[in-house]
Order: sequence, then structure tokens, then C-alpha cells
Amino acid sequence: MADGTRTPNDLEAYWMPFTANRQFKSQPRMLVAAKDMHYTASDGRQILDGTAGLWCCNAGHGRAEIVEAIQSQAAEMDYAPPFQVGHPAAFELANRLTDIMPGDLNHVFFTNSGSESVDTALKIALAYHKARGEGSRVKFIGREKGYHGVGFGGISVGGLGNNRKQFGNQLPAVDHLPFFYDRETMCFSKGQPETGAETADALEDLVALHDASTIAAVIVEPMVGSAGVYMPPKGYLDRLRTICDKHGILLIFDEVISGFGRLGAAFAVDKFNVAPDLATTAKGLNSGTVPMGAVFVRDGIYDAVVNGAPEGAIELFHGYTYSAHPLACAAALAAQKLYRDENLFARAAELEPYWQGAAHSLNGAPHVIDVRNIGLVAGIELQSRPGKVGARAFDVFLKAFEKGLLIRTTGDTIALSPPLIVSKPQIDEIFGIIADILKTTA
Ligand code: PLP
Repeated sequence: MADGTRTPNDLEAYWMPFTANRQFKSQPRMLVAAKDMHYTASDGRQILDGTAGLWCCNAGHGRAEIVEAIQSQAAEMDYAPPFQVGHPAAFELANRLTDIMPGDLNHVFFTNSGSESVDTALKIALAYHKARGEGSRVKFIGREKGYHGVGFGGISVGGLGNNRKQFGNQLPAVDHLPFFYDRETMCFSKGQPETGAETADALEDLVALHDASTIAAVIVEPMVGSAGVYMPPKGYLDRLRTICDKHGILLIFDEVISGFGRLGAAFAVDKFNVAPDLATTAKGLNSGTVPMGAVFVRDGIYDAVVNGAPEGAIELFHGYTYSAHPLACAAALAAQKLYRDENLFARAAELEPYWQGAAHSLNGAPHVIDVRNIGLVAGIELQSRPGKVGARAFDVFLKAFEKGLLIRTTGDTIALSPPLIVSKPQIDEIFGIIADILKTTA
């Protein structure tokens, strides 16, 4: 209000993202501080972070090394334009990142979010085919239940109905692979399901339908995060890779969640030993401290787009004011150093069996119809209340917050992904609180 009559804690002006605004504002849950594994709520309570913020604070909260790096970068140089000018930390960070990414994904394009990383990867795929004289390849294949952020590119290749239905006007040339999950054969799998790899063969049908000469790329989350935590069946990603190779189609892995240690390896690329042509990342890149994303690109793609353009020409008409923002780069260099120094990706792998055991201890708890896990991720799926999908899990979320635990729910699945510094007693605490809540949840 122009007359300044709003009080600082008037909640009306802020339109919250992916939130039931009216419900939240009638009963707000405010976080005011964070350190290591805990948030502090506005009423002073400590809240154990079972979700690494939103799958992003992999090094834990308030880590001094990252805080100091951001502070000193802000004091030294707050901002530098990324077009036709550079700053050293951007180049250094790209080198550190390609050091840990296997294979020849040796080039990095910086963005500010996962959504921007996805749209960037889609555009690079189109530019690549055009540079090679295959400009007819303009279609994308996503997968049902895929989440690739909220840009028009991302919701088009994404496969979540709720994220699309309010916005009719999406990319026209998109089709979707079927989802691979089969409850009967896969529920309560530990890690990757043994069966289901053949569902990847549906890609051959889509190629037959559209013709390979029209398809630019296939994009999938190697591990499905936002739709409810699903692991790819063993061999599934390999099959996608083989079919893409056969038809000259690029394969994009959306590693916005799976990147930077979440699966107990640097990337899903390592964990599943399948290399995509492009990989989108964000979140854990700088442990969620400053908005940043990065798209990894194979040598051949970079070479085709960059070396194929006339000397002196801008090769890719794409970029963001805040690409490689100095504060984000400083935070990322510090976070990556912490990951290395504390061996956090290996730590996640070491904890995986313990985490798996704790998660599957909920098999048999009231309402639990599936438990899925990999690395330091778990999905606890609850039976939905008739006609009210999501209501039961949301009740659990509210009760958990009251009891001092932050969880995330999507539909009726509880998604857990703590910072990689989580201890065994804290793992017990996370699943113990959930078990208690389930006992008293209708
Ligand atoms: N891609 C995947 C796989 C994600 O999980 C997310 C966010 O959760 C995104 C893209 C979008 O990232 P952002 O919210 O940073 O735009």
C-alpha cells in the first residue's frame, strides 16, 4: 500500500509459490534461522531439516566457509556483467565442476535455477541440430510424471498435469514416454527396481510415430524427484541411451535434484553409469545458498555450436543477466570445496544402507503402501483418503512441523532428502517422528 499502512508482518502482499496461500496465511509457519541440520522457527523451536531445504542444502546450513566466501565476494566485487566480460571465479568454477563430471561433459553454461537450466538445455539441443544442418529436429520427448521446472519449456516436457493445466499455451512439438512405475512388481523395492527396463522401449514407438529426423532430444530425471521419488528400473536408462544413439537423438538428464551427492555419488551419471549428452543442475551446486544452475554439455555439442559459427560471431543467443553471478560462483566454489574436504558424497554412500533400513522400517506402519529409496533419498507413499489425494500426507507434514521435523510431501508421498551431514541418530529421529505421527493419523 502506497500510504505505508501495512505492518512488516502483514502476509497479504507476498504471493507465495506452490503454496495454498489462504491456508498458509491463516496459520503461518515461519523459519527465521538455520544452522547445520536445523532450522529455527519464529517461535524459537528447533526444526530438524529432513529435506535439505528443498533438496538443495546438501552441505547443511550456515556453513562458515560458504558464508565467508559470499561475504568477501560481496565486499570485493558485487556484480560483473556476463556478456562480453568475464570474472575469474566463473571460469574456475566451470573447471572445478567439469573435474567432477565424468566423460566428456566438459563445458558448463551457468543459469540461476533448475527451470532456467532446463530451458537452456532444450535450446542448446535445438541449436546443436541446427548447427549440424539438421534443423528439422525440433521435437522433444519428456516422460509422464517428469518435473523439469516451471518455464514454458520445462512444463511442456514435464509430465505433471497440475503444473500444465492452468497454462494452455506450451511448446507445440512435445511427446511423452510412459511412466515406468508398476506398483505390483516394484513396491518396497530397495534401491532400483529389478524389473521394468523394457518400458524404455516405448521410445522406439515414439520415434516410429514422429520420425527420428524430427526429434531433437529426450529429457528425463534419472531419479524422479518431485512427482514422488521413484528410482529408474535397472537397465532403463541404458536402454534410453542406446535408443537415442541409434537415432541421433540427444539425451538430457535433469540432475537438478540428483546432482551433487544426493544419490551417494557426484551425479546420477556416476551412480547409474549412463552418460547423457547434456545434464541440467542447480540446487546443490552451491548448497542452495545463492540462486544458481549449471548445464553440462558434451564436447561435440559445444564444438558444433561454437566452432560452427562464423569467427567473431556470438555463437548462442542465450544467457541471463545473472549467469555466473560472482556471489553464486563464490558460494559454489566454497560448497564444492566443502563437499571435497568432508567427502560428503562418499559419506552419503556410506550412510545409504542405514538410511535404507530406517526408511523400510516404515513398511507395515499405518497407511504406508510403498517405500522407495536410493542414496539419501526416500519416498514414503501413503494410501490416499478417498477423493482427497494429498490430504493425509499434508496432515503428516503439519504434525511433523509441530514436532520439530521438516518433511516434504507431494501427493500422498513423503519425500525425504536430508543434508548429507545428517547423523545416524538424526536419521532415527526423522523416521521415529514419522512412525509416531502415522500411528495417530486418520
Ligand atoms: N528439474 C528438476 C528435476 C527439479 O526437481 C526442479 C526443482 O525441484 C527443477 C528442475 C526446477 O528447479 P527450480 O525450482 O530451481 O527452477
